[in-house]
Amino acid sequence: MTSTEFLPFAVPDIGEAEIGAVVEAMRSGWLTTGPNAAAFEAEFARVIGEGTHCIAVNSATAGLHLALDAIGIGPGDEVLVPTWTFTSTAEVVRYVGADPVFVDVDKDSLNIDLRHASARVTPRTRAIMPVHFAGRAVDRGQLAAFAKAHDLAVIEDAAHAFPVRSQGRMVGSGDSDAVVFSFYATKTITTGEGGMIAIADPDRARRIRAMRLHGISRDVFDRYRSTKPSWEYEVIAPGFKYNLTDTAAAMGRVQLARADQMRDRRQHIAASYSDAFSDLPVDLPVGPLPGDTHGWHLYVLRLQDDAGLSRNEFIQRMAELGVGCSVHFIPLHRQPYWRDRYHLLDNEFPVASSEFERCVSLPAFSSMTTEQIDRVISAVQKCLR
Ligand SMILES: *Cc1c(COP(=O)(O)O)cnc(C)c1O
Repeated sequence: MTSTEFLPFAVPDIGEAEIGAVVEAMRSGWLTTGPNAAAFEAEFARVIGEGTHCIAVNSATAGLHLALDAIGIGPGDEVLVPTWTFTSTAEVVRYVGADPVFVDVDKDSLNIDLRHASARVTPRTRAIMPVHFAGRAVDRGQLAAFAKAHDLAVIEDAAHAFPVRSQGRMVGSGDSDAVVFSFYATKTITTGEGGMIAIADPDRARRIRAMRLHGISRDVFDRYRSTKPSWEYEVIAPGFKYNLTDTAAAMGRVQLARADQMRDRRQHIAASYSDAFSDLPVDLPVGPLPGDTHGWHLYVLRLQDDAGLSRNEFIQRMAELGVGCSVHFIPLHRQPYWRDRYHLLDNEFPVASSEFERCVSLPAFSSMTTEQIDRVISAVQKCLR
C-alpha cells in the first residue's frame, strides 16, 4: 500500500502461511468439518487451558445461540445484555424465545455496568451476557459474584477478547457457563467467518456438538473415523447448520499460532496512539485491569467538548485525509427493532447515549506498517490541533 492510498479501517492480517494452509486443505479432499476443525479445537483448548471443551462453529452468533440453547434459556426468560454491543448479543436471546433486558455501561471501560444490571434483575432473569468491549476484560471476579448473588448463568461474549488474560487465566476458562469467540474477517484472529465456544460442562458440550450439526449425535468426521458403519447416525433434536469448514479451520490454526504476535503488534499501535494523543482534546481508551492483558481489538477515542468538531465531522475529515474510521457501537437501544420492541428511551441509558456521540474507532489492525501508524497519528493531529 503506497502512502497516498486510502487506509481502510480494518484489513485482515493474512500471509502466505494462511494461504498455504487453506490450499493444502483444499487439495486434501476434505473440505467440510474434519481433521483441521478437530485440530483447531484441540489447539485452541490448549491455549485456553485444560478442562475446557472448545467447539468450532461458523460464527460467534451461532456460538452464542448454541450456548443459550445448551444452558436451557427459553420463552419467558430474561437475559441481561449491554446496550453497547453488536446486535448479535441480543438477537440470539430472541432466537430462543427469551427477552434481552438492556443494561447501560461503565463510562470508563464501556463494559456492562453491574450496578445498573442489578436494578434490572427481575424474577424472570436467568442469565447475563457481558461483552469484553474492545478486548478490555470485564472484572470477572465481580461478574461471578454478581451472577452468584442473583443465581444467573453467565455467557461471555468474547468476540473482541482473544487472546486476553484476566485475573490469572485466559478469557475462555473460569467460572462462566460459556465463553464465545468470533473469527469474523475483522476480528483479532480470523477464519473469514467462524467462532469458538469454550465450555467446561461436558453434557452441555455434547449437546452443543450435536446441535451445531442438525442435532445429529455423531458428526460426519466421527462417522468417517468410527468402526461403526459411517452411514449410521441418530437425529436427537431439530438442530442447526453451524459447523466450521476445514478450509476455514486451516486458516484459523495458522492465525492461532500467530495470535500473541498479532496482539503484541496491536498493543504497540495502541501505545503509539496514546503517546501521540495525550495532549489533544480527547479521552484515551482505558488500559486493562491490574494484572490483566488487553486484546486491543479496537482503539476507541472519545472527543472532548472543546475538540472543535463533532464526531461525525471528525470521521469525515479523517476520510478526506485518507484514513477510514468506524464507530463501535451504535447502542442497541437506538436501533429501530430493539427500541420499538422494548420501548427503550435514551434516558434509561445515560452513559451509552452520551458516549456514543463522541466515540470513534481508529484503524488498529496488526498488519499496519509503521508508516500507516504515523499517517493515522498525523491525520488525527491535523483534525484536532
Ligand atoms: C463481531 C461480534 C459478534 C458476532 O460475531 P460473528 O462471528 O460475526 O457472529 C458478536 N458480538 C460482538 C461484540 C461482536 O463484535
